[in-house]
Amino acid sequence: MFRIGIGHDTHRLVEGRPLVLGGVTIPFNLGSDGHSDGDALTHAIADAILGALCEGDIGVHFPDSDEQWKDAESMELLSRVVWLAHERGFDIENVDANVMLERPKLRIYIEAMRENLAKALDVDVGCVSVKAKTGEGLDAVGRGAAVSAQAVLLLKQKQ
Ligand SMILES: [Zn+2]
Repeated sequence: MFRIGIGHDTHRLVEGRPLVLGGVTIPFNLGSDGHSDGDALTHAIADAILGALCEGDIGVHFPDSDEQWKDAESMELLSRVVWLAHERGFDIENVDANVMLERPKLRIYIEAMRENLAKALDVDVGCVSVKAKTGEGLDAVGRGAAVSAQAVLLLKQKQ
């Protein structure tokens, strides 16, 4: 049996915060505002897993109001969500994700993101696709005010 899930996340870009995407810290003068490290890509993927499980979203599992998750590493949150999927009898089959950021260019960081995500998802790196997009100068991403990510993910019931 297969289950499909979708995830989406947006974070405002502000000064004085790190820019973390797929567990990779990217040198830039702006970073993601947010309670955890603000890793929009990892949050979108975690939400896709929870969606496939019909388990709500990461806001339910790791609430902003809980000091435990303040400045938490999103990779750790993702690992916990993957553990939940395994508990429910599912493995991750594959994930396809888009990360939308106007600047800086993400191309040179994509492989490191895929490797980090594959490790957390307990899959081969060949099952993790990350594509970098810009906002073409339009919308909040295009104005350089936000970073967004989308993910579609398939779960497969363990044999
Ligand atoms: Zn987020």
